[in-house]
Amino acid sequence: MAKIRKTSPLEKIPPVLPAIPALKGAAKPSAQEAERLFLEYYCLYRIATTLTEQMEVERTAHEVKKIVRDFFPAQQFCLALLEGKKPELAIHSHFGFTRQQADNARLALNAKNIFGVVMRRRRPVYVSNLKNETAAISYHPGRRHKQGAFLALPLMASSHRAIGVMRLYRNTPDSFSPREIEALKKIAAQTGHVIEKVLLYHETREQSITDELTGAFNRRYFNQRYEAEFMRASRYDRALSVIMLDIDHFKKFNDTNGHLLGDKVLKMVAHVLEESLRKADLLARYGGEEFVIVLPEINKEKGRKVAEKLRRAIERTTFPKGDTQPLGQITVSLGLASFPEDTEHGNTLLALADEALYQAKALGRNQVGIAGNGQASKARSNKAVAPAFATTP
Ligand code: GH3
Ligand code: MG
Ligand code: MG
Repeated sequence: MAKIRKTSPLEKIPPVLPAIPALKGAAKPSAQEAERLFLEYYCLYRIATTLTEQMEVERTAHEVKKIVRDFFPAQQFCLALLEGKKPELAIHSHFGFTRQQADNARLALNAKNIFGVVMRRRRPVYVSNLKNETAAISYHPGRRHKQGAFLALPLMASSHRAIGVMRLYRNTPDSFSPREIEALKKIAAQTGHVIEKVLLYHETREQSITDELTGAFNRRYFNQRYEAEFMRASRYDRALSVIMLDIDHFKKFNDTNGHLLGDKVLKMVAHVLEESLRKADLLARYGGEEFVIVLPEINKEKGRKVAEKLRRAIERTTFPKGDTQPLGQITVSLGLASFPEDTEHGNTLLALADEALYQAKALGRNQVGIAGNGQASKARSNKAVAPAFATTP
């Protein structure tokens, strides 16, 4: 177990420091008081700077851990946050635990667990001497301690919401001074507000780039990313393929089964596509029931295989009321164009993929059109496409 160091906290402060606001009207603090205020202010400042640096929860959680380790030494520390909608916390930074203990810990929020108690009360809980505790409360994670002091503080966000807990343990009873507790309260409050802003930033960003119905990226985001991806491919002479994909006879599906079920199918199609693609690929909703897929590092030959894989994945999926479709199931048509094989220009590449999609539609749907081929790929499903529907869209 880590030994508590006895160095002066001020030794840890680097020489370049922010200015401390003047304490207007206040009596001049003693040197000791000034040092304490200075340290508190410095800790709060460090947490706040994580907002302007990376806007990542892990970055803030890591900074808080460093601050606690340097200025409030303890045998154990963990910072845990609410995960999704479940009533439990997950650890985001810690010391004094094994990695496995921290990674596997799911801290249930109930009245028998210190985390649950603090989250519910929205107030710190200080157990100055575990030996005297009679309440059967779990301080999990980590092994059970028989003595020592626990301090658990809520991480508060706006509207008086608790979004997590910071928990410290010292193996010496009564070892947290009232001033330390006050300072840690401020640190926990600052941490909660900073993390809330970081989360909000990610949520807003996510919402602004994704399509609400399908979860795929939206067209605005696609435009930005496509430009960057194309420039990268062009500059470094790397392959890049684009696929345009459109659901066949989707108007008919809506007319027959209603718009709500249509929405569900649209969502399912996006999900199947997402599952079939690599992480590096970009899937975006281009229009109503049309998607665009960007495949970095994929040349035309490989692109054809990807497009065919996607077509087959949709064909093999059982969709609700799929059998009411003219082709007997939900199918998609795709158009593929590749850089550098088809063109040197980003916009032309998109237009060529669109043209190839148009060919696939014209040749009967449920197939892959390839730019420059003049006709769609013959790779079709075993189920023959009814020529009656081979009309242009
Ligand atoms: P094609 O095989 O030629 O693509 O035929 P289509 O009927 O799919 O083509 P068209 O472009 O004529 O119709 C597209 C239809 O997609 C129109 C609309 O009913 C449907 N659609 C577009 N966006 C949505 C959506 O968000 N939800 C639902 N349910 N339907 C949508
Ligand atoms: Mg369509
Ligand atoms: Mg369409």
